[in-house]
Amino acid sequence: MAVSEIEHRQVIVIGAGPAGSAAAQRLAEEGIDVLVLERRAIVGNPAQCGECIPNWGEVIGTFKHLEDHTWLKTYFDFPERLRLHRLDNMRVFLPSGKSFNFGLDAFAGHRLQFDGYLADKAVRAGAEVRTSTMLKRLQQQRKANRELLVTNEGRFTCDYLIDASGSLAHVGRLRHGQDPAFRPEDQVPTIYAQVKGNVPETFDVFLGSVAPSGYAWIIPKGPDFANVGLGVRAGKLKGDLKGHLERFCADLNLEIVSFGGGWIPMGGPVKQMVDGTTLAVGDAAGLVMPSNGGGISQAIISGCFAAEAIVEHLTNNTPLTTYEDRVRASMGPALKNSLRSKNLGYAFMRGDVLTELILRCLGPIGGIKRAMECEKPLWLF
Ligand SMILES: Cc1cc2nc3c(=O)[nH]c(=O)nc-3n(C[C@H](O)[C@H](O)[C@H](O)COP(=O)(O)OP(=O)(O)OC[C@H]3O[C@@H](n4cnc5c(N)ncnc54)[C@H](O)[C@@H]3O)c2cc1C
Repeated sequence: MAVSEIEHRQVIVIGAGPAGSAAAQRLAEEGIDVLVLERRAIVGNPAQCGECIPNWGEVIGTFKHLEDHTWLKTYFDFPERLRLHRLDNMRVFLPSGKSFNFGLDAFAGHRLQFDGYLADKAVRAGAEVRTSTMLKRLQQQRKANRELLVTNEGRFTCDYLIDASGSLAHVGRLRHGQDPAFRPEDQVPTIYAQVKGNVPETFDVFLGSVAPSGYAWIIPKGPDFANVGLGVRAGKLKGDLKGHLERFCADLNLEIVSFGGGWIPMGGPVKQMVDGTTLAVGDAAGLVMPSNGGGISQAIISGCFAAEAIVEHLTNNTPLTTYEDRVRASMGPALKNSLRSKNLGYAFMRGDVLTELILRCLGPIGGIKRAMECEKPLWLF
């Protein structure tokens, strides 16, 4: 196609993460023309994740009205080859070293393989995924009454646009600049390392000065391999994040093989997920759990819901805003509780002594477990 030509597609999805691939697959299965534009040369590379992937049991334990959703249930039935290590338990360590143990229904995987697997499924369903193609600008053409998507690989128009571009929500930013209604807030910087050594069996979380207003994690991916990382509220750590992680790994006698990192939007859902015929999904809609940083489930669920809203709009003219209503009905309560727990942590967990005291008072069941699981803590009304 000549560079000056404009390619029109029924649906364009920006980003081939879990949200974008789930949306693309769901749409393609309904016979809808869908193109995914992905700026990376290889889907999922580099990974930006702790690589704890939820099973269906974890998903329906956290979110409402999903038990009977057969498409999602099947989607979360991930093949054995992606499952490197079962994560049946989480241990939360207080600054003193005392720990509490909770059940978990998840597994550790390689995000590169996981994201590639999801994108492959979307392609097999009939979607097109175009890599090395980055959305750079949105250009309003008032006379033609259309908006052009300008990428490094040509210009596009579409009937529906899905912003699945992750935490920085590129479509929202390009269209609305600083408007907080479309920007996921409280972007928490995170860094992680793939490590070798004597790693635990369990998903371990460490609270206190090891990660001020955040937490450090060890997620085992095999008998002697793990993803170790930390996320810290912006500006709360003296010194650099990488040096801090290096010291944490050295103290645990773990050898670092490689580093990764990224931003996690911890401010809760954006105020407006539907903007005309554009739907924001996953991290771009601020759907990460603020108290634990997990976002894969919500990305997949919201991608599916966005696709279903488009199908409903095309067939019955049902308003696209039903997408946002469904997201809030299913995931809103857990996200709200999780945000509240995170805000309480920000407010009160200052320094190791106070953090220890507060966590011991809350206890494992009433506070820590429920905060991690995004339920309303017992000590809240
Ligand atoms: C360090 C770290 C650890 C985490 N650990 C976990 C964990 O263990 N478990 C968990 O559940 N969640 C975890 N999360 C959160 C999880 O990774 C995200 O919630 C999830 O990936 C969101 O999926 P998504 O599809 O919305 O966005 P993403 O996975 O971020 O995908 C967005 C895609 O859009 C592409 N893109 C961006 N801009 C453009 C553009 N302009 N043009 C074209 N393409 C573009 C990107 O390249 C990317 O492929 C972690 C996050 C971080 C940063």
